[in-house]
Amino acid sequence: MKITEFKLRGEIAGLYFLSDLEHKYLIHRLLTVAREVGVSPELRGWNWHEAPLKPYYEDIKLPMYVVCSKYCPTDRDVYLSQVEKAKGILNLKMALGKMLHGAVSDSLQAFIQRRKLDFESWLQKVRWNEIPAKREDVLKPAEMVWHYVIKQCEAKYAEIAARQPYASEQDLMASTVPFLIEHKISGELLGLSGLLSLDCYDYLRAIMFDLKVESEPQDWHRLAPVGYAIVFESVYEVPVNICCTIYLNLRDDKITVKKDLFFANDELRNWWIEERDRKLEIVAEKRDPGKPSQSSQCDNNCIYYKLCYT
Ligand code: SF4
Repeated sequence: MKITEFKLRGEIAGLYFLSDLEHKYLIHRLLTVAREVGVSPELRGWNWHEAPLKPYYEDIKLPMYVVCSKYCPTDRDVYLSQVEKAKGILNLKMALGKMLHGAVSDSLQAFIQRRKLDFESWLQKVRWNEIPAKREDVLKPAEMVWHYVIKQCEAKYAEIAARQPYASEQDLMASTVPFLIEHKISGELLGLSGLLSLDCYDYLRAIMFDLKVESEPQDWHRLAPVGYAIVFESVYEVPVNICCTIYLNLRDDKITVKKDLFFANDELRNWWIEERDRKLEIVAEKRDPGKPSQSSQCDNNCIYYKLCYT
């Protein structure tokens, strides 16, 4: 499946903040299309009790990353992790992913809650036994990301405070960072884990964000935010039409941020349902899909590579 519409990448870095250009694109293109084209009622999360959203296997619950990951060409990773309960060999990319996700969400949460939390104090709380890398390999990127997020929040706050001199502190914060960060939500109505965590939901603009760290854009990266949008609809019965994948990378000691802002249309929703159903079936039937015909089709960074090929 090739998605080519609604790409807007490489604009001004802003993590969960939209640049002026992105905001224009949201208002004049995405929301216009979403209103004109719409979403089929049966693909809204609140119709979780009817086909096609109703999960066929009611007793099996999958984590969102299992449904939305397409690293493995045959889905053998689903079988290994969910049926065999195999532990893969974690790598530096995953360690960085955990650290940077933590740095983004904890710095934002601290800012939103007006808590004084500096990077050094945060480091004391990191559970190093869960980070599969040496401290020195992940410290610097985490510190850079921490300061980057805080600077952005402060700049946004100052901009809004200057525009609204009579707004209360609470109102200024609600306009500056209208984000639910790591909001806990249950995906059980849709065959998913009861303990899902959203990277970010902008409740003023109704945008579901998903953060990718050290990754290059892939079409299937759209699946995760679309899945979270459908889950959000199933729980709160609020329509979520717009999603965004954020790509946070560090290159030569510089932070780069790219965004893929898009309409969660019927095609993407149907794709997410297909992925969920196929993976639920593998687990329900305990069926090993096997390896691809050539090992070169696998990424040798796959955490199960050794298990599959030695
Ligand atoms: S090594 Fe290949 S077949 Fe095995 S889980 Fe990884 S991607 Fe899939």
